[in-house]
Amino acid sequence: MYKYTEVKGNSFVLSLDNHVEVAEALTAFCKEKGILSGTVSGIGAISEATFRFLDPAIKQYVDRTFREQMEVTNLTGNISQKNGEVYLHLHLTASRRDYTCIGGHLLSARINGACELFVESFPGTYTGRRPDAETGLNLYEFDKS
Ligand code: FE
Repeated sequence: MYKYTEVKGNSFVLSLDNHVEVAEALTAFCKEKGILSGTVSGIGAISEATFRFLDPAIKQYVDRTFREQMEVTNLTGNISQKNGEVYLHLHLTASRRDYTCIGGHLLSARINGACELFVESFPGTYTGRRPDAETGLNLYEFDKS
């Protein structure tokens, strides 16, 4: 699903395998390394992406899938935990054949080419998630008590 090398102790360079789904592979990597807090960034190429748009009026996500070859011009996000499990918050911007870009909150993306990520873990740091009634989001939680 991926290959990686460790740098600086808490940082990793990842090369995800072709045709895997990005969020699935990244979750598997975080589980393997026990990463529950951190940051991720990367670039690559994909053939499909599903974005979510939070409609503040109804506090619900509207999903849309794009099936076409795109360059990942930026993938950025964070790693936290919810109920002791890896919780990813990823945003992705992709460029199309005509060089225009689309992007948003990422639900899933299928690699078609390559995907190169940098992951930095924050060992010993608690970054949890709690549901927020006002926004409908799972916001950061820094205090377990
Ligand atoms: Fe988001």
